[in-house]
Amino acid sequence: MAERRHGSEAGAVEGDFFGIVDLLDGEERKLLDRVREFLRAEVAPHANELWEAGRSPVSLRGRIAELGITGEEGDDAGVPARSSLFRGLLGMEMARVDPSFATFFGVHAELAMGSVRACGSEEQKARWLPAMTRWEKLGAFALTEPLVGSGTAAGLTTTARREGDTWVLDGEKKWIGNGSFADLLVVWARDVADDQVKGFVVEHGAAGLSADVIPHKIALRGVQNAHLALDGVRVPEADRLQHAESFADTNRVLRVTRAAVAWTATGCALGAYEAARAYAVEREQFGRPIGSFQLVQDNLARMLADITACQSLAVRLAALEEKGELSDAQAALTKMFCTTRMRETVARAREVLGGNGILLDHDAARFFADAEALYSYEGTRDMNSLIVGRAATGLSAFV
Ligand SMILES: Cc1cc2nc3c(=O)[nH]c(=O)nc-3n(C[C@H](O)[C@H](O)[C@H](O)COP(=O)(O)OP(=O)(O)OC[C@H]3O[C@@H](n4cnc5c(N)ncnc54)[C@H](O)[C@@H]3O)c2cc1C
Repeated sequence: MAERRHGSEAGAVEGDFFGIVDLLDGEERKLLDRVREFLRAEVAPHANELWEAGRSPVSLRGRIAELGITGEEGDDAGVPARSSLFRGLLGMEMARVDPSFATFFGVHAELAMGSVRACGSEEQKARWLPAMTRWEKLGAFALTEPLVGSGTAAGLTTTARREGDTWVLDGEKKWIGNGSFADLLVVWARDVADDQVKGFVVEHGAAGLSADVIPHKIALRGVQNAHLALDGVRVPEADRLQHAESFADTNRVLRVTRAAVAWTATGCALGAYEAARAYAVEREQFGRPIGSFQLVQDNLARMLADITACQSLAVRLAALEEKGELSDAQAALTKMFCTTRMRETVARAREVLGGNGILLDHDAARFFADAEALYSYEGTRDMNSLIVGRAATGLSAFV
């Protein structure tokens, strides 16, 4: 134990300073170690290359499936349930290596599969989840629109019109991760009959559906985000998520995924800290490693303290989630806090690397850029702060 925490050659401390991984049971701990090895061997070596090229790690889907980390009890007889803590740590470990990879995974495993789990009928879960668990069918989640982001609850404009046993969808969606190649897109649209938001599973290649990859991104470049156009897309009633009756149901999905982003943000901060620490003990100025200077040590100490605070909060969040007691405001507070601490941590890391902090070569630059997307998606810091503020005062500041 002491060796793992303090045992690098330079005697430096790793990001899991308080050993939260030790909270896992033996079997999940072993599985997390297998995932870490996969990330080290197969994700890390290509992260900068994919980031620069703007390509998603789709070719790894078979390897991810082999790890058995996507499913939960009932999805597929072969895949056992996993604890909330394990799922959180999984997101943290992925983002610690590559936030784009963590997002690529999360869009499929948390947002798309989470929508089917939370809002699908038993028949729909049995129809879609096993193939998604095996990564044979890849998912996407389409809520945000070009003109409506934070205000989707009241302002969603994509429409769903029922014609007998078929629904007709019209509208546009923006920022949809995996949206250009996903086999199954969970599309949220407003029913013109009752004005409520409902969820539909649209298959890749459906007539009237088009997807363009959004170019020129400066964050999470290893995730492809699509701009979707839905022009009279016809979806059978059997493919409408049967337990999504209003935006409150969409929110059941977002509560869980917002919590997941808190873990991802913690992982992004962790990756940046570790890049900075490694650099600080190697890089010499004035004839000494820069890590021996007090100001650099202060930066590292602050990073480690912020990461530890995020981890501690996220561990408690996982315990509440496990008991089914996590509230929207608690998820919002954790997302808000962890992404804010992350943003400061990646900036400190970039600073420790000096000029090299803006080069991909040393990884800190990638974490620095990617943090900007994590800060804004799944509800911006401001929106999450308003959710917490409403809980604190009982007064809504939403307009
Ligand atoms: C990389 C990336 C991946 C994404 N992936 C997906 C995806 O897979 N699926 C999906 O559906 N969406 C996705 N999104 C969309 C994401 O959830 C939205 O970007 C986010 O909800 C914010 O919406 P917006 O960008 O339209 O900003 P806006 O809502 O236009 O907000 C702009 C600014 O105004 C502030 N603001 C807005 N309203 C208020 C208010 N009432 N009070 C105070 N401040 C306010 C915001 O906090 C923000 O700072 C993704 C976004 C990014 C960047």
